[in-house]
Amino acid sequence: MESPRQPAFDAVFDVIRRIPSTVQENARVWRAVEAALDAMNVPKESPPTDVRPDGEHARIGGNSGHGHAWPRPDGVRARCGGPGLCRECSHDQQLVATAHR
Ligand SMILES: [Zn+2]
Repeated sequence: MESPRQPAFDAVFDVIRRIPSTVQENARVWRAVEAALDAMNVPKESPPTDVRPDGEHARIGGNSGHGHAWPRPDGVRARCGGPGLCRECSHDQQLVATAHR
């Protein structure tokens, strides 16, 4: 699920890329767009309907998992083949995908 704001961002980006402008000018445009979306109460993220109540997303970024779906703070990375080959890594990658949308 993408952000409810994505269609607006796409439309703005479509305009920006056709008009030569500096990074600073673009930044100003994006701030204005965010302000307009805020004023319309467009949520920044999709409602977290796909977040599991067990709080499994809290594992992301921590020292659990095999170090493929997210880099572990302790630097550990299992030689398991990563997502696609390893069941746990595939599961964790799925977890990341649902957490970031
Ligand atoms: Zn693994």
